[in-house]
Amino acid sequence: MTRFIFITGGVVSSLGKGLASAALGALLQARGYKVRLRKLDPYLNVDPGTMSPYQHGEVYVTDDGAETDLDLGHYERFTGVSSRKSDNVTSGQIYQEIITKERRGDYLGGTVQVIPHVTDAIKQFALDQQDDCDFILCEIGGTIGDIESLPFLEAIRQLGNELDDHAIFIHLTLVPFIASAGELKTKPTQHSVKELRGIGIQPDIVMCRCEQPIPEDERRKIALFCNVRNEAVIPAVDVETIYEVPLHYHQAGLDSQVLKSFRIENAPEPDLGAWQEVVSRVKEPEGEITIAVVGKYTGLKDAYKSLTEALTHGGIANNVHVKIEWIDSEVFESEDAVIYLENVNGILVPGGFGERGAEGKIAAVNFARTHSVPYFGICFGMQLAVIEAARNLAGVTSATSTEFGPCDDPIVGLMTEWEVEGGLEKRSADSEMGGTLRLGAYDAALKPGSQVAEIYGSETVSERHRHRYEVNINFKQQLEEAGLVFSGMSPAGDLPEIIENPDHPWFIGVQFHPELKSRPFDPHPLFVSFIHAALEQSRLV
Ligand code: GLN
Repeated sequence: MTRFIFITGGVVSSLGKGLASAALGALLQARGYKVRLRKLDPYLNVDPGTMSPYQHGEVYVTDDGAETDLDLGHYERFTGVSSRKSDNVTSGQIYQEIITKERRGDYLGGTVQVIPHVTDAIKQFALDQQDDCDFILCEIGGTIGDIESLPFLEAIRQLGNELDDHAIFIHLTLVPFIASAGELKTKPTQHSVKELRGIGIQPDIVMCRCEQPIPEDERRKIALFCNVRNEAVIPAVDVETIYEVPLHYHQAGLDSQVLKSFRIENAPEPDLGAWQEVVSRVKEPEGEITIAVVGKYTGLKDAYKSLTEALTHGGIANNVHVKIEWIDSEVFESEDAVIYLENVNGILVPGGFGERGAEGKIAAVNFARTHSVPYFGICFGMQLAVIEAARNLAGVTSATSTEFGPCDDPIVGLMTEWEVEGGLEKRSADSEMGGTLRLGAYDAALKPGSQVAEIYGSETVSERHRHRYEVNINFKQQLEEAGLVFSGMSPAGDLPEIIENPDHPWFIGVQFHPELKSRPFDPHPLFVSFIHAALEQSRLV
């Protein structure tokens, strides 16, 4: 029978609960257990699909097409287990489901209440699709004390009783260092656990994020006031790279304490060799290359979480450190791109939406193409690379995307637009935002002998998508004559998935998001190859 680990957070947000959960999942997996991770988000949005990446960070897309929280990306990267739609739920989804049922009359006129209706729906989500896992880790989003979290905490409290010795609770808090007093402070942790106990949840393990090691005395104090065993107070000290987290937690005794809380004896020792290898490659690279990421949300790195990680993975595979230079594309609209791009070893234009900054991105593509700098275009970055080629190689000077408004040469557009006879049909402005995207895994057939077929070592691939617009198939022939190769197509042959430029050392654009499937132990082949090309470039200059 599956065991459940519920992870809550207290004191402040952004403590890295997602990473902590992912790292614990990895440790249990390293001991030979089958694990799965889930996220329960208390906010009222139905999914993060329409939330601003400024506020919420990246929208992580699963194979089955769900737009989820970025923590699911950590889970996948740390455990290699692909997430599904059913691994992320929000209050919004729960309420939507309940209200739909209520309107349908499913409750037969009964009063619909938070307890039991909302809490039952939450419990059902947590218990769903167990897949013979040894452990399911459920992270509860938000911070103890948030009003929205209460139904979730009540639901897991009930599960604690129902699952009995098959459920434990871990609470992650902050132990701040007050410089003026030269002291670590345990009071916020005491208060946070007190609040949790007030709701009826007694944590089995308290993890304490801290800038520096927590001395024995402080740990004992936390244990005493929080009603846990001394050894169940786990210091979670800041580390240099996130891939070090599982090793540190293991050293601090986290996995042993989890097993002890479940009364599991004689568990196999973890095999952490792969983690040690990754950490040593991250910490002792043989060189460094610089990649310019030309985007819009460059002020907030969380908006590009998977991308940053995938670049790091490409670096791990090539034994180099990848330095990312974040460049706001709008600078290229007023200044000459050269000053920013002259010394970089590769240029990447990531996914993006909307017209603002698009011309600047096209200028960056142009620089990469005409200066033979390795170029990687992801989703929007591919669409803009095709527009650049249409304008400057194929002579379609007014080439653009209908995402920016109606136009004469829609090199990129909505499929519905070019299927409609007699011109463009404008998407209605009030169309529902979340529902119209091409989302999730789709196959692509690769052109035999192309650069990407060689990189992947395969002729069909499955990659995750999140976009509305497509490269317009009607311009394919014209673009091919101008030198672009359409090296990946949808299986039906109607949607361009990958383009490459054979007259360039490394110029590839993909309609999907390869970064979502890259993992430290299994780096994505396109990122490995891109970083390799950038490394070659660094040796040229
Ligand atoms: N804005 C483009 C589209 O909707 C690209 C989206 C993306 O890069 N994820 O098609």
